[in-house]
Amino acid sequence: MIRFDTVTKVYDRKTRPALDKISLEIDRGEFAFLVGSSGSGKSTFLRLVLKEDRATGGAVYVAGQNVANISSWRVPKLRRGIGVVFQDFRLLPQKTVFANVAFAMQVIGKNRSVIRETVPEVLKTVGLEGKENRLPHELSGGEQQRVAIARAVVNKPGILLADEPTGNLDPDTSLGIMKVLDKINQNGTTVVMATHDDDIVNQYRKRVVELRNGVIVRDEARALYTSMI
Ligand code: ADP
Ligand code: ADP
Repeated sequence: MIRFDTVTKVYDRKTRPALDKISLEIDRGEFAFLVGSSGSGKSTFLRLVLKEDRATGGAVYVAGQNVANISSWRVPKLRRGIGVVFQDFRLLPQKTVFANVAFAMQVIGKNRSVIRETVPEVLKTVGLEGKENRLPHELSGGEQQRVAIARAVVNKPGILLADEPTGNLDPDTSLGIMKVLDKINQNGTTVVMATHDDDIVNQYRKRVVELRNGVIVRDEARALYTSMI
């Protein structure tokens, strides 16, 4: 589903590359944790998948397609197939829970009846039934992240990228978010989650890809978080 073939990303020629000839493949339906200290290249990895940045060398493939060959007018289509969740939620503060999720469908031209049917379903999946009319500030951090996840998956993307989704949440709330991400993965979405959260990595025992200074230093199935730093 995602393939990096000797990918290098250089932002500044005076410093080491943010990613240095990394190769890896994440299969359809997989769940992979991307771990590593701050500055190790996790966000750069996610940005290259989204074609928000261009690789300096090598090739990035998403769903079999080299993203370098996707013309700018087709980039929105690529991104529609990829849901994204951030540490800081990034909800629309003046819109209700329902409207935040509905918005993601409105912008791609889904009609009202489909939106009215689909939004409650996805809110149920993330455990937010009954909260449709709340505003983001009326929700806990964990609930806000659930709204962000609902919005990210409402258009049924093949891939969900999560960049430190539990970074602002306490351990119990984080586990709840992890259960939601796991459920979305069980439903068939490929999930890549960048994280520092060793409790979660250890509890869930998924594939762990560890970056250090832009290089993959570990890639193991069902691994524990045993930081090499
Ligand atoms: P992580 O997400 O693991 O914290 P990043 O991918 O953000 O790591 O950063 C990897 C390296 O690339 C760091 O050295 C960072 O300073 C550098 N970097 C990231 N984004 C930029 C940018 N837009 N311009 C210049 N350097 C950047
Ligand atoms: P607008 O697009 O005019 O800014 P909103 O963002 O408030 O409107 O809402 C987006 C859509 O979602 C509208 O069609 C609105 O009627 C509908 N909507 C909002 N909340 C609910 C809800 N709890 N149940 C059903 N439909 C809702």
